[in-house]
Amino acid sequence: MSDADELAAAQTIGGEVAESAVGGSAGGSAAGSAGGSARGSAAAELVAAVLAETPIIDGHNDLPSVLRARAGYSVAGLDQVGPGRQTDLPRLRQGGVGAQFWSVWTPPDLPEAQAAVGALEQFDAIRRLVAAYPETLVFARTAADIRRAWSEGKIASLIGVEGGHAIAGSLGVLRSFARLGARYLTLTHGRNTAWADSATDQPGVRGLTEDGRAIVAELNRVGVLVDLSHTSKDTQLAALAVSRAPVIFSHSSAFAVSPHPRNVTDDVLEALAAGGGVVQAIFLADFLDEARSQWTAEALAWAKAQGPADGTPGADFWKPAPRPSQTPEQALAEQAEATGPASPFARLGEYAEAHPPPPVTIATVVAHIEHLREVAGIDHIGIGSDFDGTPSLPEGLQDVSGYPRLLEALAERGWSRSDLRALTGENVLRVVQDAEDAATDPLFA
Ligand SMILES: [Zn+2]
Repeated sequence: MSDADELAAAQTIGGEVAESAVGGSAGGSAAGSAGGSARGSAAAELVAAVLAETPIIDGHNDLPSVLRARAGYSVAGLDQVGPGRQTDLPRLRQGGVGAQFWSVWTPPDLPEAQAAVGALEQFDAIRRLVAAYPETLVFARTAADIRRAWSEGKIASLIGVEGGHAIAGSLGVLRSFARLGARYLTLTHGRNTAWADSATDQPGVRGLTEDGRAIVAELNRVGVLVDLSHTSKDTQLAALAVSRAPVIFSHSSAFAVSPHPRNVTDDVLEALAAGGGVVQAIFLADFLDEARSQWTAEALAWAKAQGPADGTPGADFWKPAPRPSQTPEQALAEQAEATGPASPFARLGEYAEAHPPPPVTIATVVAHIEHLREVAGIDHIGIGSDFDGTPSLPEGLQDVSGYPRLLEALAERGWSRSDLRALTGENVLRVVQDAEDAATDPLFA
């Protein structure tokens, strides 16, 4: 993405707000090149065999909030490679994706009742997405559903709710989300809730309150996975201590490799593994590389000092959903006319031209994944890209077609067939099954 307006809009997608930044020389689609240079090599053959047996189960993709922001929740055209987004059906196929947790994300500073409405709208968008492309997608709730989808050659579509604010403090809302198909709840997003702390907010309850512990118990009881990405370390340890089922980090990487608060520390990785859980490695460049994160902070400070950019969209990414009488196109036209304060993110492209961002590559992702493996173990790692949640992605991993390039890099470093299968899908399948087995009153059936 090189267009400043695209950067401005994309910056806050999926709510890595003010954590992530410009993709620098992002340079568009890699469609058509997956595995190209390595085709025929031993690594490429191994990866093709792995993906045929165990496709990628990705823990986090923000396409639903991109559909809200840029398409008025229309799901049209996703069977084509389209500009301005990182996800579509042809590139999911090319990337070897066999199951996707679609993220239901709402801004954490919305009033909670509004967040619950925004979440319901995205459940609806995901269901319409799956219904529109029945040859490629199939809705899935369980580990058995995922395996069935694979046997039919389809991409299993699961739902994860990102941010505990969306349940609005209500177990009834939590259970309703579970009945609608939610299979994980990220306890917080970028702000604390009344019952749990975020990694990117000031210390609040320093763990989980009595309500927070009751929410974890209810998630266990009904079979929804506890997701600890975005939470503070205190909250992670509190949740690990009380959860009866394995937990996940749906999109986080290794703090020891890059000390960003969104990454996971070694002691938490050890506790996660002891409980049988999985950490799904994120691709977001600012989290993966400290120099890149520093560059972003400097770029934002510069952009804010310049003042609003002319002709750029407002800072508010969370645009109104279409009214009942509006088509998606009418809603988008109305939004385009709405004025608001311009986002400083709109100027990041300008800054990047004079000050190129430090490169982040597939090798950077490999370093994180190998550290996660070393500390948590081969049975406790997976992939949670955050595609369409950020424009800040490594070279070679800029859209959903890129996974084979990452797997080939691991294969070239000696990862075996069974190692790669553990990473791509087997570990997450096991944890999804474990959450089902631990549920005493399941709502996923
Ligand atoms: Zn996130």
